[in-house]
Amino acid sequence: MTSITHRDITITQAEVPGAPFAWVHDDAGGSAEALDEAKRQINRHLATPDPDCTICAGSGWEELLGWREVPCTACWGPGFWAGVKHHERNQK
Ligand SMILES: [Zn+2]
Repeated sequence: MTSITHRDITITQAEVPGAPFAWVHDDAGGSAEALDEAKRQINRHLATPDPDCTICAGSGWEELLGWREVPCTACWGPGFWAGVKHHERNQK
């Protein structure tokens, strides 16, 4: 069994070829084929961006074209927050 800690939640993978990365927290949990996706599931479960994210530096937003921001793909995964088209900088 391999285990990785992401944001104080343990992700485990059985020592079997193709075993998924699984995690459990409170009444929730999930599993994914890729470690990065398991981490994104945890970010979505906690509903906060990864504070150690190297793409958005923990803001959860990624700058696009220098003037607007989109939800960070590294934190949330593609297609997350589908209803959010963009986020104006300095929005109050
Ligand atoms: Zn991020």
